[in-house]
Amino acid sequence: MPDPFRIAVRAQGLTCRLGDTLAVRDLSLEVQAGELFAILGPSGCGKTTSLRMLAGFEQPESGSLWLFEDQVAGDGLMVPPERRRVGMVFQDYALFPHMTVAENIAYGLPKSPDRAARVSEVVELTGLTSLGERAVHELSGGEQQRVALARALAPRPRLLLLDEPFSNLDPSLRARVRAEVREIVKLSGTTAILVTHDQEEALSIADRIAFMWRGRVEQVGTPDEIYSRPETVHAAEFIGDANIYRLRAERGQVATPFGFLPAPPEAERVAVVIRPEELQIMAGGLGGEVIAREYYGHDQILHVRLHNGAEVRVRVGPHERLGGAGPIALGLRSQPLVLPAVEE
Ligand code: ATP
Repeated sequence: MPDPFRIAVRAQGLTCRLGDTLAVRDLSLEVQAGELFAILGPSGCGKTTSLRMLAGFEQPESGSLWLFEDQVAGDGLMVPPERRRVGMVFQDYALFPHMTVAENIAYGLPKSPDRAARVSEVVELTGLTSLGERAVHELSGGEQQRVALARALAPRPRLLLLDEPFSNLDPSLRARVRAEVREIVKLSGTTAILVTHDQEEALSIADRIAFMWRGRVEQVGTPDEIYSRPETVHAAEFIGDANIYRLRAERGQVATPFGFLPAPPEAERVAVVIRPEELQIMAGGLGGEVIAREYYGHDQILHVRLHNGAEVRVRVGPHERLGGAGPIALGLRSQPLVLPAVEE
């Protein structure tokens, strides 16, 4: 079993330039042994570049990187990818379609007497036992995903890197495959880092998440911490749904559509963040009109224009107010977050 007190990845101040773009700025992270860690952020924020630095495909301009006890980059050192003992699962799986499952898995293993035994072991671990002799092009997307995972795990990497591993899967398959991948990674005891722009994926699969924005890590935390207590407006906006009001604070207070709230004393401009599920229909609450409705089956979002002029989205149950438009009164379930707003 992995020792959770061991640090598997320690990145300190990694910066990487691609052409004229500063793709990653001052990346500092610690990932514990056995953790499934996600790097989450919008397209172009530097996720893939971060992963490529960990794998050894990109050389950082500055900073240093350790994998377990070994320094692999920084201080004039650059250990090549093949000597880092890192496994990768790519977005397109990069399998050989006409080779069998077992041949694909064996491909990355050195020729040795226990090679076949190791292939059988990972075939079993990944639930591919009945498919070992099938050609990869005869498999479903989810099965191919497991082959890619099995191939990456076969050489017993000390770190597994997954780059948008679910993006080629049908949405109806994704949730199941995600759960399977998490289970396999945990069973193998391998530390894994997953890169994704899909917030639901990161929240549902990861032990901890690093949220990246424009080349920087803005917050690291558990899925619950990142969702419930985002530290930046970008994190609040990107992860989950939120009503965000950019307002001016005065003397440590801000006037919001739901009354006055305390603001950070030094902040002039703030963002008030209210998740749609933190509002509820409440007799005696703030009055308004329902102006639109989005129905999702398991719940729905009501668009409400309050009498004070503000617009707000409220998440309610699927059976609530099926009639749609009309008067409504709303109250808060919890105190909204007030974050310092940043100049873009
Ligand atoms: P995506 O989710 O779209 O894959 P990402 O978060 O993985 O995005 P990166 O691929 O790491 O982002 O790219 C980070 C930044 O570097 C982006 O602004 C991108 O345009 C830029 N970039 C990527 N590759 C190159 C390159 N070869 N030359 C110059 N700039 C590049």
